[in-house]
This record gives sequence, structure tokens and C-alpha cells, in this order.
Amino acid sequence: MEYRRLGKSGLQVSVLSFGTWVTFGKQIDNSLADQLISTAYEAGINFFDNAEIYARGKSETVLGTILKSKEWPRSSYCLSSKVFFGYEEGRPNQIGLSRKHIVEGCHAALKRLQVDYIDLFYCHRPDKNTPIEETVWAMNTLIQQGKILYWGTSEWSNDEIMQAFVVAERYHLIGPSMEQPQYNMFERTKLEKDYLLLFRDYGLGTTIWSPLSSGLLSGKYIDANPTNTRLNIEGMDWLKERTLGDSSKLDKTKALYELANQLGTSLPKLSIAWCVKNKHVSTAILGASKVEQLKENLGALEALPLLTSEVLETIETILQNKPVQPLY
Ligand code: NDP
Repeated sequence: MEYRRLGKSGLQVSVLSFGTWVTFGKQIDNSLADQLISTAYEAGINFFDNAEIYARGKSETVLGTILKSKEWPRSSYCLSSKVFFGYEEGRPNQIGLSRKHIVEGCHAALKRLQVDYIDLFYCHRPDKNTPIEETVWAMNTLIQQGKILYWGTSEWSNDEIMQAFVVAERYHLIGPSMEQPQYNMFERTKLEKDYLLLFRDYGLGTTIWSPLSSGLLSGKYIDANPTNTRLNIEGMDWLKERTLGDSSKLDKTKALYELANQLGTSLPKLSIAWCVKNKHVSTAILGASKVEQLKENLGALEALPLLTSEVLETIETILQNKPVQPLY
């Protein structure tokens, strides 16, 4: 396993990490969840990603119970939670980034995870109705209290993150250390274009999500319609539409699949390696509903040396979606 600094922070995260969205507390049973966590930890993964909204708190409860049973040193892994969407029914103050929901959300996540502190705590989305000062102060207070160690954002725009840095500087508070954007071969703009100044001037780290575009870049949807996948779970029609709705993505996936074969690797390995090839990626969060998937994906680092400039050019020719770089 390779470890990278979370941006300019002192924290080291494994370049491949593991997340529980859709799977824990929902798609898979707890004994399979336990096997996945053990497989990840034994491979050197030291960051497990979670959020209050994942299975409305159940995902954190499952992960907390598993970690408690392992008796691994708390210092040997990092845990995250994310606040915004809420874990309750969504009455006023049960969602958003007010001081009240941030503090209550943190306390509830600590209980579900059965830990004294959360290493990485995220604002899961921007809250247009709460002053940014209130959010930054609340995060800073949680750090001062030792309840969280680093705070960050997820799917915030460049301007919103910049505002958080400005507020932190104005009041001498601790600003965000990381952002969690979607990043994969089909979703590139934030990481490759929008955030460039944040990387250069603020040393922002990133913990990127859906490196396989919810399984599309595993190749299993090429000429096939597997039914035992997250896209077929009740209530996930929106994700199915977002993932499979654009047929050009399937054509590109097919071409990438053939390229991976020519290179003697697999498409999931190639796709994940492509993500972590980008030096602005601190860690790519893997997801898996089966142990075999996770084992396969953990092999992605073997594919890194295959990504020569020539191969990267071939990938660009297939994708045709390289964000246009600004002129600075
Ligand atoms: P991926 O894009 O890698 O999708 C993972 C899913 O793809 C698996 O659960 C599995 O689903 C399928 N899959 C994975 N590997 C293989 C394989 N080798 N062969 C076939 N199928 C495979 O990542 P996620 O979308 O799960 O995102 C990773 C993590 O990022 C999440 O767990 C969460 O922690 C975080 N996240 C954060 C978000 C945010 O807003 N901040 C949003 C979304 C995720 P199946 O078997 O069901 O097809």
C-alpha cells in the first residue's frame, strides 16, 4: 500500500481507502461487512469512510460494532463521518450545517461509531441557508474539543471552499483540510479544473468517491444487465439513470475494457489506477459488495506502471472529456 499526505496536512492516508455507502446496513449482511473491513485493513487500508445519512445511521452502527470487535489500535486507522443530510426524519435543525446540527450530528456519529473522536469530519454538501462563519466556527470548536481531528467539505464549489478558507484566516480558525468530490474517468471537472487554485494555494487534500462510477467502470454492464447490483436496488432508479442513462458512456467503457485487456490488466484496476495517478488525489475510496470485488480493486496499484504517457493519451482519445485548462 502507498500512503499519501492528506493535502498539506500531516495526516497520512492509504491511497486506496474503503467506504460503506449503499452496502453497510443495507445491501449486504453484517458478516460480509466484517469480511470486507478485515480484507481492507489487512491490505493496508487505514481510512474507512462513512456518513450520518448512509442507511440513516445504520452504516456507522455496523462499522462501529465491527471495529470494536477487532481490537486494532485506534491509531492504526482513520474514520470519517459526514454531516448535512441528517439521520432522522429531516425536521428543521435535523439537517444542514447550522452549529446545532453539526454538533448534534457529531455527537450522534461518535455514539454510533463507538469512538471518542472522528478523524475526518465532512460537511456533506454546502448549506446555502447557514452563514459560512457559523459552519467554520462550529468545525473549529469540535476540533478544539478533540471530537474531530480534521474537517472538510464534499461537493462544494471552488468559491464555497475558498470562502471557508477566507473565514478561517480572518478569525484564525482551522480551515478545511480536504474535499470529497466524485472523481472517475467520466467525472473530472472539479478535480482537474475547478479546484486547481485550492490545491496550489491552500494545499487542499481530496478523498475521491465512486472511482468506478458506481460499478460502470468494472465493465459488467457492457452487453449485459446484471440484476444483483446496487443499480437494481429499490429506490436507486435515480442512480441507474445517472450511471447507465447515457449510452456513449457504455461505448467508451467497452473501448476501455479492450484497452485494459491489451495491457494485460482488468478494467477496474485500470480505472482506479487512472484516478490515483492524479497527484491531487490523496486517496480513492473504494466500494464493494463482495470480497472478490475488493480483492480485485486492491490490485489497482499494480496497474499504475502501465499508465505511460502513450496509454494516457489513448485513454483521452477514448474519453474525449478532458476539462479545458484555465490559462494561468
Ligand atoms: P465505486 O464507484 O467504486 O462503486 C462501488 C460499487 O461498484 C460496488 O459496491 C459494487 O457494487 C461495484 N463494484 C466494485 N468493484 C467491482 C468489481 N471489481 N467488479 C464488479 N463490480 C464492482 O465506489 P462507490 O460509489 O461505492 O463510492 C465509494 C465510497 O465513496 C462510498 O462507499 C462512500 O464512502 C463514498 N461516497 C461519497 C459520496 C459523497 O457525496 N461524499 C457519494 C458516494 C460515495 P454492486 O456489486 O452493487 O454492483
